[in-house]
Amino acid sequence: MLSTEKGFITLNPDFLNMYFDAHVHADVRSYEDYEAMVLAGIEKAVTCAHDVYRMTTSQVYLDHYDRLLRVETRLAARAGLDLYVALGVHPSAIPRDVEALLEALPEQLRAERVVAIGETGVELKDDRETVVLERQLSLAVELDMPIIVHTPRKMKEKAAEEALRLIDRSGIKPERVLLDHLKEESVEVAMDSGVCMGLTIQPPSKLTHEEAAELIARHGPERFIVSSDMSSIPSDPLALPRCALKLRAMDVSRKDVHRALYENAADFYGL
Ligand SMILES: [Zn+2]
Repeated sequence: MLSTEKGFITLNPDFLNMYFDAHVHADVRSYEDYEAMVLAGIEKAVTCAHDVYRMTTSQVYLDHYDRLLRVETRLAARAGLDLYVALGVHPSAIPRDVEALLEALPEQLRAERVVAIGETGVELKDDRETVVLERQLSLAVELDMPIIVHTPRKMKEKAAEEALRLIDRSGIKPERVLLDHLKEESVEVAMDSGVCMGLTIQPPSKLTHEEAAELIARHGPERFIVSSDMSSIPSDPLALPRCALKLRAMDVSRKDVHRALYENAADFYGL
């Protein structure tokens, strides 16, 4: 919004919020989404490797990584979005030659614009999940990198507890872990663990804008990291600016809004 002051047109500082969307899947979205995000004040985002295909072999993952690193970061830059990358093995898509992928991962993680391991996680579906997550947690310790550990739609609290058990056993510093897609009950589970707590705004399967804003308003902005997880399912590329409107309506200060919707993610990823 423009306002005039002493004859000059100045920008209203209320409209200068910048946002950092901590978890997206840019490869299944459009260039126009990037533009809309930039216009709404989203400055940075991290696109995470995911289960975009059947991911049957390590080669499918390596081609997927290549797309994120070479194509998506450049397209986003053209739209003005500063896009970074997280690479990892998704728990819903463990390839049959996962060992080859885990061996290739350290080299892949050295690529330009890679800021984290992810997304990884627990789905409580496959026995190999535990081993694959443990290997990625030790890689995070070894390479001193942050790691994104997601929690599933179903049995979220049980999965969060299992993830926290593995995180604790790995010896990783809890603040290097983003335990993602938490809901009210799983926030309670994660609260005392010291991990960064991911709130994902993606109704109806994940939080609504109001629910995320309420959790931040209730507990304070410390340790919350917010994302849209925008993918091919119904998503909101403008999840963070819309959440900011809700937070401002709840009288949360601009400083705290910035903390929850930008600074915490920037600190976590070291950007
Ligand atoms: Zn995701």
